[in-house]
Amino acid sequence: MATLIDGKKVAEEVLAECAQEIAELKEQGITPGLAVVLVGEDPASQVYVNSKARKCAELGIHSEKIVLSKEATQAEVLETVKRLNTDPAIHGILVQSPPPPQINEEEIVRAIDPAKDVDGFHPENVAKLALEDASGFVPCTPAGCMRLIKAAGVETSGAEAVVVGRSMIVGKPMALLLMARGSDATVTVAHSRTRDLAEVCRRADILVAAVGIPEFIRADFVKKGATVIDVGINRVEDATAKRGYRLCGDVAYDEVAEKAGSITPVPGGVGPMTIAMLMKNTIKAARAAKA
Ligand code: NAD
Repeated sequence: MATLIDGKKVAEEVLAECAQEIAELKEQGITPGLAVVLVGEDPASQVYVNSKARKCAELGIHSEKIVLSKEATQAEVLETVKRLNTDPAIHGILVQSPPPPQINEEEIVRAIDPAKDVDGFHPENVAKLALEDASGFVPCTPAGCMRLIKAAGVETSGAEAVVVGRSMIVGKPMALLLMARGSDATVTVAHSRTRDLAEVCRRADILVAAVGIPEFIRADFVKKGATVIDVGINRVEDATAKRGYRLCGDVAYDEVAEKAGSITPVPGGVGPMTIAMLMKNTIKAARAAKA
């Protein structure tokens, strides 16, 4: 039976580091500030935005939640971003995804000051990640996955890593982090056009699933003893659940846990890490603004 990689516990450790760093910054008269912009009323987005604001409050990070109507225009969102770019109390800005269809998300991301882009989605930060330039911001979810892999004591150097999914938010940056100097894994990125996916996945000492399909990774995709990181957060209908749905990952947990060496649960795995790494990035932005 696999060892559980406890994301909640590791996230608590990261947040304790954050609290320490915030106390140090406050002694110097600096309060890190995060602005979260939400366009529209997507229920999942509201949950994410509220939990980010709550975490900021717990840590003593100043936070601003800016809610624009679902009819907001591109110009209005750009105007909001521009205002936040010049607001000295705000060190980090993020625009919650996905926005309504009239909004060109790419243009919004490019309008964010790269020094305040705590999501790490601006092209300048994407380039810095590829260049292994540590002054950039690494996207929070893959940064959280790396921290979990390290916390689990998994050797990445020379390991075969397979990342399933090639999104700019998870799969691609995850692959860059695993192959970077210091991590030194041999990385394969699989996606919807990959041939013999199960066979490719079975090579992995470290398997990262970021697909967005509930319980897609089955036991026969997994090499015995592998480390399995499940990024997926999927809502599946469940009449027995209070809310009418339950959350599940991209990995068929029960059967994969029989075979893997270690595995992250959903919920309580990658999810709590993402928000903890967002707090880290906001502190990093505040520190850099001071310098
Ligand atoms: P996405 O839809 O942008 O990308 C999914 C990727 O999976 C694509 O690159 C696609 O090529 C690949 N894919 C789709 N079908 C496939 C198939 N049949 N075989 C192989 N590959 C396939 O999704 P994303 O934004 O990367 O998110 C992935 C999952 O992670 C979702 O469940 C999302 O909710 C979750 N997520 C979780 C967090 C977190 O904090 N834990 C953060 C971001 C995303």
